Formats: sequence, C-alpha cells, structure tokens
Amino acid sequence: MRFLSWSLGIVALLALAVFGLLQLTPVQDRLIDRVIRKNVDNSAAQALFKDDAMRLLVCGSGSPLPHPTRARPCLAVIAGGKFYIVDTGPGSWNQLALRHIPAERIGAILYTHFHSDHIGELGEFNMQTWVAGRPGPLAVYGPEGVQRLVAGYSEAYALDRGYRTAHHGAEMLPPERGEMQAHTLALPADGHRVPAFEDGELKVSVFAVHHEPIEPAVGYRFDYKGRSLVISGDTRRDERIVTAAEGADLLAHEAQAQHLVARMHTLTAEAGRPRISKIFGDIPNYHTSPVEAAELANAAKVPLLLLYHLTPSPPNRIAEQVFMRGVKAVRPEGVVLSDDGTLITLPLAGGAPQVGRFDP
Ligand SMILES: [Zn+2]
Ligand SMILES: [Zn+2]
Repeated sequence: MRFLSWSLGIVALLALAVFGLLQLTPVQDRLIDRVIRKNVDNSAAQALFKDDAMRLLVCGSGSPLPHPTRARPCLAVIAGGKFYIVDTGPGSWNQLALRHIPAERIGAILYTHFHSDHIGELGEFNMQTWVAGRPGPLAVYGPEGVQRLVAGYSEAYALDRGYRTAHHGAEMLPPERGEMQAHTLALPADGHRVPAFEDGELKVSVFAVHHEPIEPAVGYRFDYKGRSLVISGDTRRDERIVTAAEGADLLAHEAQAQHLVARMHTLTAEAGRPRISKIFGDIPNYHTSPVEAAELANAAKVPLLLLYHLTPSPPNRIAEQVFMRGVKAVRPEGVVLSDDGTLITLPLAGGAPQVGRFDP
C-alpha cells in the first residue's frame, strides 16, 4: 500500500514538472519548430511518385451524408510522376494537403458527373496547385457539361487569383498558369470504352455508366506500363463495368448498402421527416450495392475490388460488418472497404496489388 502511494506521488510530481516545463517559452518554441519541420517535410509523399508502381490513393471515401472524418468522393491515381484526380468532393483537398501531396505534380482532374458531392472543390484544387507551382493551366476532363463547371468555378475564383498575383508577384504566380482548360469527352452511342487522353505512357479511357436520371455519367480506366485500374463513378449495377474492367488489376466501385438505406427510408418517415425519407426512397435506383459490386468484380476477374463512395459511410467496425452483409458469400477475398488514406500499390514489376494506408 505504501509502495503504491509513493509511486502515485512520484507520477504526480513528474506530471507537474512536465506541465511546468511546457509553460517555458523556449520549450514551447522548440516544440513548435518540431511541428513546423514535420509539416513541411513531404519526403514520404514524394516517394509515392517513384516510377516503380501505379498507385491509387483514396482522398474521399464518403457519400453526400455527413461523416466526421471522410471526405466526399475523390480518388487520386499516381503514375509517371504525376497525380490525376477523379472527382473533387467536398473535403477532399484537405485529405491530400494533410498528407503533404506535392500539389504542383497534378496531371489533370477528371469528372464522372456533376452531382454536388463530386464537384465541390474544383476551385480549391485549381488554386492550391497553381500556388504550389503547377507548370501550366489545369486540364479538366469530363463528359458534356464540364465546360460550364470550369467556367463557373473560374469566374467564382477570378478575384482571388487577382489578389494572389498582386500580392506575390506575376513571376511567382503567372495569371495564365492559374487558368483551367476544359476538355469535353465525347461518348459513343454504343456505350463502348473510348480513349480520353494520354500523358506519356499513361492511357486514360472513358465509358458511359447508368446513373439515370443523371446523364451523362461516366467511369474511367487508367492503363500504365502494364498495370490498370478502373473507376466506376456513380452508377447502378452496370454490366459495362465488367467489359471495362476485364484484365484490370483493380476495380474501384461505388457502393450503397441498400438494406441500410431502406431502413433509413422507413425510420425517417416514422420520425416525421418526409423530405429526407423521400430521398432515401429515391436513391436506390441509381447506385450499386456492395454485393452487386462484388459480383461485377468476379465477372471481370479483377484481383482486387475497392469500395468507395460508401452510402451510408460506416462509422465503426460493427457498422462496417453491417454494410458488407452478404459480400463474403459472393467474394470471400479481394475486397477492400476503403477509408480516406487507403493506398493501393500496383508494382510495375508485377505481382498482386498491395493494400495499405498512407498517413505520413
Ligand atoms: Zn455521388
Ligand atoms: Zn451521383
């Protein structure tokens, strides 16, 4: 007993001493310097750009529903020394900035469609990558409608671009580099996948998906030095995904747990929230369930399926189990329920996709 009270006394004294030290200005300053040095060190993020793999970093795994940590849809494909962003959902820039991704390395932004949960931060992406030293205007690809999106964001940020050039000088921030260039991707009527653009050895192709009544809506395939990945965008179950993903190493597919949305439809009605209830009643017809996504991945014989755009986004392990109900029976292995920060590595030397996290 005496030993315990002595120990507790020593711990209390030590805690007091540490608290006292933290009040000293020189100690505080040294700690702040350490934090600043850590925050400007982007060596871990730079290593993601080594040309030994194509990588996929999840910068937004969430859905339009609120979530404390997940951003809305955003996927970053890293290949050939650059990163390519598919959708810029609200909160997604923060996920990249927190991980010190070198913004000047942006190759292009691609849009799957123009729902607000996908377009929210185009202005921020353009501004931040320009200020970081992007060597030219920002290329923005998407189906018909991308011109309007780019024109609108460009106008909304025109004053701020002016402020920054005036403040930091045109040598550092040439106005012409702060512009965006919209590229409208034409889609063939037969629904086949067609080339979108090439950048060095990276080939990007585009295909239409079923997100009606939203049209057009598209998915993308990235091919780089023998590795490939496919991104579904927002779609109900669509067999064209199977065709697009044949021979690919990775399928990143949206997922909506229809059994949970059905409960939300019923319970919001019971709670006297008819408007929200109607939305939960309307949305199942243009999204894909986790089980359906697993079936599509199996049909395409893709080694790895990554689920993103999780509706509703599970907040904990138990909720993840409920979200994934039925998936194991269809596809026992090769499924990743993504989170912001999930990193998939496809080594150029070959071998299975590697699943990890990037939290430097
Ligand atoms: Zn969406
Ligand atoms: Zn949508």
